[in-house]
Amino acid sequence: MNLEIFQTMDALLDEPRRIVIIPHKNPDGDAIGSSLGLWHYLNNRGHKAMVIAPNDFPKFLKWMPGSDQIINFEKESALATGLIKNAEIIFTLDFNHLGRVGQLQPLLEAATATFVMIDHHQEPSNYAKITYSDVSMSSTCEMVYNLIEGLNHISHITPEIAMSLYTGIMTDTGSFKYTSTTSRTHIVVAKLMEKGANASEANNKVYDTNTPNRLRLLSCALRNMVILNDYRTAYITLSQEELDAHDYKKGDTEGFVNYGLTLEGIIFAVIFIENKEEGIIKISFRSEGQFSVNEFARAHFNGGGHTNASGGRSEVSLEATTTFFRSLLPSYKDRLNP
Ligand code: 5GP
Ligand code: MN
Repeated sequence: MNLEIFQTMDALLDEPRRIVIIPHKNPDGDAIGSSLGLWHYLNNRGHKAMVIAPNDFPKFLKWMPGSDQIINFEKESALATGLIKNAEIIFTLDFNHLGRVGQLQPLLEAATATFVMIDHHQEPSNYAKITYSDVSMSSTCEMVYNLIEGLNHISHITPEIAMSLYTGIMTDTGSFKYTSTTSRTHIVVAKLMEKGANASEANNKVYDTNTPNRLRLLSCALRNMVILNDYRTAYITLSQEELDAHDYKKGDTEGFVNYGLTLEGIIFAVIFIENKEEGIIKISFRSEGQFSVNEFARAHFNGGGHTNASGGRSEVSLEATTTFFRSLLPSYKDRLNP
């Protein structure tokens, strides 16, 4: 089946095209890595590609090759609007429904370009002419690698492409430890290293660039953690006030949610983060094993994602949100204690 998709893409990319690449809102390492990997590849092939992100992305990704060329729609909306209207092909990466692009949604809905989706989340919607969707993939970066390989262009993988894709695979697999990491993932990573990806550099630049404020915010988050052993659940809250007190910067809370899962016996971890500016509580869900946080986020928090990692939001206060969350747990008791 993929072969057919790659052949269709090959035909589509047969001559130079005006291309826009869109990662999801609040882009993470996989969204930025896959976008930049594809961007380098397409431009090297003679296309005119641009990456337009719905909003800003964390500083710990801003070293990635080409990251300074990414257009932030919130800052350069006129430029981005023109490019989207004028595009012949729009790639959407690391998401599968247009509700994930924030303010870009109406523009994408009105665009006349041929849409290509590359994504590994569950339940893809059908806005794209070409849908390369595979929930068994570790990351969208692994899929971009598959695409380049499927187009017989492994020899076109430059160190920039390799580094971009490597970084996204590293971040989306929790450094190769989530269940989505397969032997194939390791083969892809090995090939990317052969092509010039520097694994220790990627690790240092993403994970060893903490600020004192961020570490202190982590300490605050861990102190706020509530552990509900009966439900094998641990959750963290961070209020806007607590974020402000630690000079919060985008990306500072990345990974905090995972600490809940490091507790013995805990299989469901959640973080609730207040965002006064948007008037929402942003929520991240993580699980170990069968318990589907994708279903949980979809059913109750207007979100989704993967079985073991998902996100969502709430539009009531932080306190009302956690009260509601706790009220849901009794009906999940059996699934949390299989
Ligand atoms: P995170 O908690 O790191 O923001 O996201 C975890 C996973 O859930 C990611 O794969 C992300 O794309 C997905 N995700 C996060 N927030 C949302 C959301 O609001 N809606 C949907 N559908 N997926 C989300
Ligand atoms: Mn991803």
